[in-house]
Amino acid sequence: MTEYEPVIGLEIHAELMTNSKMFCGCKVVDSVEAEPNTAVCPVCLGMPGMLPVINRKAIEYAMRVALALNCTIQHHNIFARKNYFYPDLPKAYQITQYELPLGRQGWLDIDLESGESKRIRIRRVHMEEDTGKLTHLDGGGSLVDYNRSGVPLLEIVSEPDIRSGEEARAYAMKIRQILRYLGVNAGDLEKGVFRVEPNISLRPVGSGEFGNRTELKNLNSFKSLADGTAFEIARQTAVLNSGGQVIQETRGWHDTKRITFSQRVKEEAEDYRYFAEPDLPPLYIDDAWIERVRADLPELPEAKIGRYQAEYGLSAYDAGVLAEEKEVAGWFETAVAAGGAPKSLANWISNNLFQLMNESKQAITDIKVKPEMLAELVGMVKKQTINNNTAAAVLAEMFVSGETASSIVAAKGLAQISDEAALVDIIEQVLDANPDSVAAYLGGKEKLRGWFVGQVMKATRGKANPGLVNKLLVEALEEQE
Ligand code: ADP
Ligand code: MG
Ligand code: ZN
Repeated sequence: MTEYEPVIGLEIHAELMTNSKMFCGCKVVDSVEAEPNTAVCPVCLGMPGMLPVINRKAIEYAMRVALALNCTIQHHNIFARKNYFYPDLPKAYQITQYELPLGRQGWLDIDLESGESKRIRIRRVHMEEDTGKLTHLDGGGSLVDYNRSGVPLLEIVSEPDIRSGEEARAYAMKIRQILRYLGVNAGDLEKGVFRVEPNISLRPVGSGEFGNRTELKNLNSFKSLADGTAFEIARQTAVLNSGGQVIQETRGWHDTKRITFSQRVKEEAEDYRYFAEPDLPPLYIDDAWIERVRADLPELPEAKIGRYQAEYGLSAYDAGVLAEEKEVAGWFETAVAAGGAPKSLANWISNNLFQLMNESKQAITDIKVKPEMLAELVGMVKKQTINNNTAAAVLAEMFVSGETASSIVAAKGLAQISDEAALVDIIEQVLDANPDSVAAYLGGKEKLRGWFVGQVMKATRGKANPGLVNKLLVEALEEQE
């Protein structure tokens, strides 16, 4: 039987978070929460005689993405009309970029599960406008909401360099992370502001030619992207193995049945009758503008992860956890700037703080604990003012009350007991109260030492310096012999 190799290219559509739409002054509103058809005007409703105007901010956001994805920026940009007829497209054409996209020939390195990294080439990054939204009613008929009509939409098209559902997922997740870092897209797949459509085909291993492809739609999670792609690979393999041919078509993903189904035979470019948009002038992007946008790019996740390892000595894993979201990374960096030891901060954030945030469903931007406050707490542990267990309890309290660590420790008398004389007294009391255990210990049951430490910690309500207790306890037990 012939062995097949999957060939996959991804089209990603991302709504840009500008204030206004791509070609008119209407506000960009949340397409799920806003009342339908409240953010519309003659331009985005496609009324006769309306004239579009290019949104400068949208172009700048698109340039950010194109540059972050290592694309060459097109100086001379032409918009095109793409004609097709659906009720969610009131003009009966979409303004898009066709022959001359804003960004070309970029690339993105993704990390594979094997630990290796793989370069995925990016064919184009271009600007277009989103369509309205249709809702088909169960009893027949459809509703249309034009709030989304004309929202700036960025399309990112990869070369067919992807070879599995897992790679497709890794690539799409990394693009989403970069868009969020750049502050241009919210990354919400369920709301449809970030949409991923894989094109999938098979070819005999070793062949240089591409087979017929299907394009997959309705993927509203990364899991569905990976699963849908894997399903399509298996389905096409079965078709080819039974002597059939893959039909070039658009297929939908059924999220509950977890299968794909035929939606429509794919349009060809000729069907769209592209031509240069006569209502818009060419858009010229000069080098100065490109360099301004480039200079304003934030540090991206990959660079951050490298820097956290080199500068702070973090493991690749810890660095990745902290750099996953821009807000968390910024919070961590502020805490470091406030004097916290980076490695300890990394531990406290990725363990205790994340757990507290999960339990209370709060984002790092919402919590009462400020970076400087965690830096103080970490410093108190380092100076042995409090031990780790106390610090965890103090952090939980800081999280609820927003008080600083020092004020909680002072108010509750939680400072660690490092006073030798005081600890010796307590140890004596514990030994005196437990003569049988002392005898057993002296008889060879050395494991009891941990139990004695526990008793001392209990007597001090957890405040004793554990290292010191251990040392003093050994001395005291030796004296008993
Ligand atoms: P269209 O816009 O008609 O869908 P494009 O040429 O823009 O077509 O390609 C869309 C995506 O499909 C790109 O990501 C590209 O890499 C991918 N692609 C093209 N041919 C194939 C193929 N035979 N198998 C898999 N992916 C493909
Ligand atoms: Mg396509
Ligand atoms: Zn409008």
